[in-house]
Amino acid sequence: MTFILREENLTLFFEYLEGKYELFAPVSETQHEAHFEKVAAKYVAFNPRLSPQGPKKFIFPYKRELFLGPGKKDKALVGLHFSDIAGIAILDKVFKYPIIDQEYFDVREQFLIVGMDHFTAPKDGYDLYLQVIDDYFLVTVGSPLGLKLAGTPLLIKNSKITSEKNLFHFDDILSHKRLSEAVEKSYGSKIWDDLSQRCFGCGICSYVCPTCYCFDVQDSFDLKGNSTRTRCWDSCMLSAFTEIGGGFNFRPELKKRIYNWYYHKFVRMPKEYGKLGCVGCSRCIVYCPARINYLEVLEDVVLEMEGKRGKKPLRVK
Ligand code: SF4
Ligand code: SF4
Repeated sequence: MTFILREENLTLFFEYLEGKYELFAPVSETQHEAHFEKVAAKYVAFNPRLSPQGPKKFIFPYKRELFLGPGKKDKALVGLHFSDIAGIAILDKVFKYPIIDQEYFDVREQFLIVGMDHFTAPKDGYDLYLQVIDDYFLVTVGSPLGLKLAGTPLLIKNSKITSEKNLFHFDDILSHKRLSEAVEKSYGSKIWDDLSQRCFGCGICSYVCPTCYCFDVQDSFDLKGNSTRTRCWDSCMLSAFTEIGGGFNFRPELKKRIYNWYYHKFVRMPKEYGKLGCVGCSRCIVYCPARINYLEVLEDVVLEMEGKRGKKPLRVK
């Protein structure tokens, strides 16, 4: 179901949401970046800038004490880009199947999700989605809560306008099957040796990625007998991630950790969830200190495995 929101009513609409929720939206600090922060409704607008960590840090906090239980649904993440909503949809799947991770949903369900982007609404991962079109927004409802909120007179029921323009299909650009087969076949290839000479193994690509979810669980105690168990972000790119008691490490070599990062996103996740573990946000390219571009790596892998290196580019558009 869709509605129309006139541009001049945008602030009024966010003031309406502000009456029910604390708003968090991307705010520009520099010419190139935006950071998600608590904001007043009057400052919410479509922000084309990329935030380094996006909304993941809210729904899947960097560090959180376990067993706290659910909080109140009184916060709204607004102005999310298409790719960040696609990232949330992937995290929702990962933490739901095959076993529900209630610790994740205790936090995730505290947030109303309102997207805003030029692309046509994604399939899932949001409550309301505002597609920016000329002097109005096409508002798509993505959940029963979104439908309830769409009851405001600021939104006009739409039966005429459909928008297929700007349709964004990252999955089409990087075909699942071709990629998956090539990456799976490339285990032990020299490509991963070469890449390990350039990569610092710093894990930044995981921390900025909206779909990466590796975590560690740590216990701490004090001398008064208090103890806490916390869950905090980790990265499969880091050596300590696969180190177990006694010092044994399953993946001590960086080239194997790099291969695992690609294998998980482009082989395992399509097998397990029918989706790539990548939503094309480009953060891992922008923030990699070694300037590694995963698209160039994938292109090399596919061409090498298909015996076509140097003849045909992988990226069709
Ligand atoms: S951010 Fe770049 S250098 Fe750091 S682990 Fe990832 S690919 Fe390697
Ligand atoms: S482009 Fe990089 S950071 Fe963005 S979703 Fe894909 S792998 Fe993650």
